[in-house]
Amino acid sequence: MSVAADRLQLSQIAPLIVQSEIRSMSIECERIGGINMAQGICDTDVPTSVAEAAIEAIRKGRNTYTRLDGIASLRNAIAEKLSRHNCIDADPDAEILVTAGATGALYASSLALLNPGDEVILCEPFYGYHWNTMLSMRVQPVAVTLSAPDWKLDIDALRQAITPRTRALIVNTPCNPSGKVFSLTELQAIASLAIEHNLFVFADEIYEYFLFDGARHISIATLPGMAERTITISGLSKTFSITGWRIGYLVANRSWIPAIGYFHDLAYVCSPTPLQYGATAGLLELSTTFYVDLAAEYQRKRDQICKALTDAGLTPCVPGGAYYVLADASRIPGKTAPEKARALLAATGVASVAGSAFFVSDGHDLLRFCFGKKSEDLDRACAALRSY
Ligand code: PMP
Repeated sequence: MSVAADRLQLSQIAPLIVQSEIRSMSIECERIGGINMAQGICDTDVPTSVAEAAIEAIRKGRNTYTRLDGIASLRNAIAEKLSRHNCIDADPDAEILVTAGATGALYASSLALLNPGDEVILCEPFYGYHWNTMLSMRVQPVAVTLSAPDWKLDIDALRQAITPRTRALIVNTPCNPSGKVFSLTELQAIASLAIEHNLFVFADEIYEYFLFDGARHISIATLPGMAERTITISGLSKTFSITGWRIGYLVANRSWIPAIGYFHDLAYVCSPTPLQYGATAGLLELSTTFYVDLAAEYQRKRDQICKALTDAGLTPCVPGGAYYVLADASRIPGKTAPEKARALLAATGVASVAGSAFFVSDGHDLLRFCFGKKSEDLDRACAALRSY
C-alpha cells in the first residue's frame, strides 16, 4: 500500500462511534410504519406562545447570528428561572451560555475542560450520547453500575472508580434511561467525593420538570463547594417539546464560560436565533401551572405505559422522572437485546431500544420505551403491547 493510501483512513476513534441503537430502531420502525417509542423525540404540541414568538421573530427579521452566548433576553429569562426553580444564582452576562441543545453544551464544555486520556465517571445505565461524547474527546468513560429496580447509588463503588486520571463525573437527574431521580443524600455523597478529589461535575438536568409521585429536583450545583466545579446543563427540548429546535443552555462559574463559549462558537456559532426568541417567550409567559400540568400529564402517561407493560408480562422498573421506562424483556425471544427489540417490533409494531445500548456489558434483558408521545400514539402502543 502506498503511503498516501495508508493515510486515507478513519481516525482512531471513528470505529468506536457507531450509529446508535436508537437511530437504527427509529429507521426500522419507520420502514414498517410502526409506533416509535425508541427515540426521545417528544412529539407532543409546542406551547402556542413559544411557537408564535419564534414565527414572529422570523417575520421581524431576527435571522442572523446572535452573540456567542445567546440573546440577552433569553439569558436573563434563564437566570430568573434558575433562581426561582433551581436556587442557582447566575449572572446572565458571565455565567450562562445558550447552546445548541444540552448536547452542544456537553460537547463544548468537554472540549474546554477535559484532556485526552482523562477519565470521566458515569452511572450505568447511561445516556449513550454521554458515553460517546467522552469517547469522541479521547476521554475514557468509566461506568459505575446502578442496579434495578431502584437504581440506588453505591457510593463505595463510585469511590473505587476514582483514579488519579479521573477529571469529572456526569450526573444525569432525572435520568435517561432509568428515570432515576437522585436523592439529596446521594447528591451530597457525590459532591463530597467531587470536592475531595477536585473533580468537575457535569450535571445534565434536561428532564428537571418531568418528576413523578412528588419527587423533588435538586441541582447539585447548589450544594456547598459545588458551584465552582459544576457545569449545569439543561434546555427546552423536552419541556417545550422542541427537540428539533436545538435550544439548550449551561450555567457555570465565570472562569469556565469564555473557553466553553469559544468551543461552542467553533462548532455551532450560535443556537438558532428566531428559536431563541421562542424559548424566551415560553420562559417568560408560561406560568407555574404549565410545569405542574406537564408533570401530571407525564405521570399519567407513565402509569398508562407501565400498566400495559405489566399486562404484557414485560415488568417495568417504574421511573421516578424523565419519560422513559426500562422493562424486563426476558420473555421476548432473541439472544440479545437488539434481537428482542426487533422481535417485539415485528410482533406489535412498537419500537423500543435494546437495554444493552445503555450499559457497557449488561442490559440484555431490558428494553427502553419512551412515553414522550401524543396520547393517541400512546393509546395505540399500549393496546398493541397488551395484545403481545
Ligand atoms: N441529555 C439527556 C439525558 C437526554 O436524554 C437528551 C435527549 N435524548 C439530551 C440530553 C439531548 O437534549 P438536547 O435536545 O437539548 O440536546
